[in-house]
Amino acid sequence: MRFIDPHIHMSARTTDDYERMAAAGIVALIEPAFWLGQPRTQVGSYIDYLSSLVGWERFRAAQFGIHHYCTIGLNSKEANNEALAEQVLEVLPRYLVKEGVVAVGEIGYDDQTPVEDKYYRAQLALAKEFDMLVQVHTPHRDKKSGTIRSMEVAVEMGVKPEHVVIDHNNEETVKDVLDRGFWAAFTIYPNTKMGNERMVEVARKYGSNRIFIDSSADWGVSDPLAVPKTARLMLDRGIAAKDVEAICYGNALKAFGQSGQMREEHWLNPAPIDQRMLFEGNSVLRGQTPRVGEPAIVERTDSVVFK
Ligand SMILES: [Zn+2]
Repeated sequence: MRFIDPHIHMSARTTDDYERMAAAGIVALIEPAFWLGQPRTQVGSYIDYLSSLVGWERFRAAQFGIHHYCTIGLNSKEANNEALAEQVLEVLPRYLVKEGVVAVGEIGYDDQTPVEDKYYRAQLALAKEFDMLVQVHTPHRDKKSGTIRSMEVAVEMGVKPEHVVIDHNNEETVKDVLDRGFWAAFTIYPNTKMGNERMVEVARKYGSNRIFIDSSADWGVSDPLAVPKTARLMLDRGIAAKDVEAICYGNALKAFGQSGQMREEHWLNPAPIDQRMLFEGNSVLRGQTPRVGEPAIVERTDSVVFK
C-alpha cells in the first residue's frame, strides 16, 4: 500500500524519520507552514522559514525518495502579533506561486481572537485571488464552535467548501464538516483521544468519502508513521481495503491534487537516487559515500508496517 501524509512538519524531524517513512510506504507529504514552538520576533525569520519549505526541505525529502509539497500561510498563533502579521502578509504572495505549494495554510483560529479573525479572512481573500486551496487548522480549545466558525467564514469569503480542508477533526466535528461539503482531515497523535483506535470507529461510521488522516508530527510527541500504522489497524479491524486506501492516500491526493501541483505521476515511476546532488552547495551526507543509481528507499526492518 502507498501512503500520503498530508500534514507533517518535517523541518522539525530527522533524516531517520524520512528513511522510516519511505520504508513504510509514504510516497508524498505536505508540510504546512506554522510556528516554531515560540513566537517569531521578526519577518526575516518567516522569510527564511518559508524559503526552506520550498527549497531545502523539498530537496532533503527527495534525497530519501519522498515527494515534498507544502502549504504557505500565517499561522493563527502568530496572527496575534499584528505588527509582524502585517509584514508576513506582504511576503506571502511571492511564496504562494512557488512550485510544490498546494494551498494557503495552515490558517484558522487558535484562541479565536479578533486579530486571528482578521488575518484568517485576509488569507482566505488571498486564496481567492490566487485561485488556491485552503488548509484550515481548527482550534484545540472550543473546537466545535471554532470549526463551525472556520467553515462559515470561508463560505462568507467566497471560498468553495470543496477547496477547503478542515484539519484536526474529531467525532464531534466530523459530521458538520462532511454535511457542509468540506474535506475532513484527522490528526492521529500517539496516546491521545484522537488515537488510531478511535479513527477506526470513525471510518466504520462515516466511510471514506472526503475523509483522510495525517500525523501532524512536529517537535512535540507525535509519530511520523501514524498514517501507515492507522492503515494497518483499520485493515486488521475489518475496514475494507478500498476505504483504507482512500483515507490514507487517495482522498488527500484528490483534495490537494486540485491545486494542479501534486500529481500521482510524480512518484509512480521513481527516478533512481543521486546523493551527489547539492542544494545551494549542501548535501544531506556527513562523510558517507553518496548512493547513486539505487532505489531511493532503504530497507528498514524497524519501520515496515506493510510488506
Ligand atoms: Zn500543523
